[in-house]
Amino acid sequence: MKIAAFDLGGTNYKAAFFENDRLTAFDQTNSLSDMPPEDTIEYILQKTREFNAEAIGISVAGAVENGTILQSPNFTNFDGFPIKKSVKRAAGIKTIVENDANCAAWAAHVIYKKERLLFMTLGTGVGGGIIYDNHLISGGVSAEIGHMTILPSGPRCHCGNRGCVESLIGGWAIRRELERMGYHISVKELFKASEHDRRLRKFVMRLGEYLGIAIASASNLFSPELIILGGKISLSFDYFSAATIRSFSRRVFKRLNKTPIINSGIDHAELVGAKLLAERIPNISKDEKYD
Ligand SMILES: [Zn+2]
Repeated sequence: MKIAAFDLGGTNYKAAFFENDRLTAFDQTNSLSDMPPEDTIEYILQKTREFNAEAIGISVAGAVENGTILQSPNFTNFDGFPIKKSVKRAAGIKTIVENDANCAAWAAHVIYKKERLLFMTLGTGVGGGIIYDNHLISGGVSAEIGHMTILPSGPRCHCGNRGCVESLIGGWAIRRELERMGYHISVKELFKASEHDRRLRKFVMRLGEYLGIAIASASNLFSPELIILGGKISLSFDYFSAATIRSFSRRVFKRLNKTPIINSGIDHAELVGAKLLAERIPNISKDEKYD
């Protein structure tokens, strides 16, 4: 089966083409926060046609319900946009749309074979995905761990709230804080620089602590067997893992404090998850109307 998978992220749009489980092509382009939804649909359609795909899986940064984007902190133009309906109608093939962290969580579930797991994406934004009893918790606003309040009078978040996890450890929030501290370095440079700068070291430890609080609060809700971190910032987990594990262990019930926290190790987990979810769409007859 030929599947076109897309990841619509705050920084990049990615497209991957799978043919019988093999990745055969990959494309990446910069995304614009004020891009009209129609241009995004055109991008998806064009790539899908190029590949002659039979199904489409779309991973998107934002809350998704029945294929409609309820709210996307990174793309305000998308709020309320029925992306699945638009793509499905124009492409005429099976289409799924799911939140990006949920896609990644599903990929991790298929690969790590755990009944209950928590996936956290640490990138421009902070996302969460939950597998419970082998099911993906999906629909409405679900597993939005990035927008749990952990510091009531904390910094303003893109969602309008204050002190969300994302407003403290999201890539954009880290950049904002670095500037405020007078450092003109990227998030990627931060971790290396923290080896030789005590102030940055302290800052990185604080990020780790906040992550631990978020993971602990989420874990106390459903007792995951495995906690997986994905996204670009998770690649630097070694720099703050001690602070995360310490903060996590202090806050969870004893039974959970040895829960492994690992890096996903899955390349483009969102794309892989979107592809795996697209594969699960049941076949429908050609006469059936695409809603
Ligand atoms: Zn928020």
